[in-house]
Amino acid sequence: MGFEDIRKRIEEISKLMNLSEKEIDVLLNFKRIVRKELEVNGKKYLAFRILHNDSLGPGKGGIRFHPEVSEDEVKSLSFWMSLKNSLMGLPFGGAKGGVKVKPKELTKKEIEELSRAYIRSFYEVLGQDKDIPAPDVYTNSEIMGFMLDEFEKIKDSHEFGMITGKPIELGGCKFREEATSKGGFLVLKEFLKFLNIDKSKLKIGVQGFGNVGFNVAKMLYQDGFKIVCVSDSRGGILDENGLNIFEVKKEKEKSGSVVNYKGKKITNQELLESDVDLLILAALENQITEENANRIKANYILELANGPVTSEADEILNKKEVIIIPDILANSGGVVASYFEWVQNRCGNIFEDDYLEKRFENIMINSFKKVYEFSNEKNLNMRTAAYIIAIKRILDAERARGTI
Ligand code: GLU
Repeated sequence: MGFEDIRKRIEEISKLMNLSEKEIDVLLNFKRIVRKELEVNGKKYLAFRILHNDSLGPGKGGIRFHPEVSEDEVKSLSFWMSLKNSLMGLPFGGAKGGVKVKPKELTKKEIEELSRAYIRSFYEVLGQDKDIPAPDVYTNSEIMGFMLDEFEKIKDSHEFGMITGKPIELGGCKFREEATSKGGFLVLKEFLKFLNIDKSKLKIGVQGFGNVGFNVAKMLYQDGFKIVCVSDSRGGILDENGLNIFEVKKEKEKSGSVVNYKGKKITNQELLESDVDLLILAALENQITEENANRIKANYILELANGPVTSEADEILNKKEVIIIPDILANSGGVVASYFEWVQNRCGNIFEDDYLEKRFENIMINSFKKVYEFSNEKNLNMRTAAYIIAIKRILDAERARGTI
């Protein structure tokens, strides 16, 4: 798994697209890999910032704080950012950062120190026209605020556009926080409309109850969908009659996990294999693998995490005719809102909420239609269709630059 998995997918897709060796090389190579060691309170943490491709514009992608962070993982994540930004028509390349750390074991002060240390180590490769970070797993607007502050102190100059997902007071965009979930929600509704699926007939399971998982569950619940199971890193709960998402959230806030909520307790594996129609994956990568793919009962999967289904699992699910709305489309709402934030920061203009909301909706729905229609026209699954559209735009930009 990891980047090897991506290599396999690209090799498959390159046959469909008739790509040359040179073009495949461009896709599988990285423009910049920076690896540093950060020190906070005498403890050392491995950290990365990786730029996959910047032919369409400056690098863009989050920074995650997680114990599983590795160079291979950050490479995969930066590759997916290139595809995601390209697919959504944004003027960005793909990048990602990460720190190998157990953030739950750090105090608030240590998290702030770690965030500042990250910028002190990586500021030379960041900037509004170079590479623009944002939140990802276990990072948030507060951390983005510390990072901006540290960057501006080093540069002795203001540059709000060097990072997105910031607090509102520091040039953040009001709906960035919920944007990944909102984008997934809009895409899902459009998908159900196209397939003529009635929401009252859907039983939904949501893996992950962080910012993205909770917000999408909340939006679906408020819209009258039935969510029968949810989980977080400690496990999950199931109620065939449907869960009250606000009550589950209260429990998570009180005791730190959804597992303490009333109802049947299940493991994360059981949630993935539960008897639902739609599975929403909003946790981490590599959740459905060749090991469990055959036991998946859902007919539809919405990928709000990056890379939650491995390529082997993808093949198995495709054979089982499970329809997957792929990550680079389904979870792109976050970076679309980041783009609005960056534009506002750069031009010093502040757009009306209504205008941004409408624009957001248009970008999400039009991108879905583009992928869905292309997949139907060429008889491809939606992931392959999305990859082809995204890869084509990156390679066209490379050609326009004369690099291939
Ligand atoms: N970390 C998010 C993602 O994986 C958002 C990236 C961004 O806003 O730059 O898409």
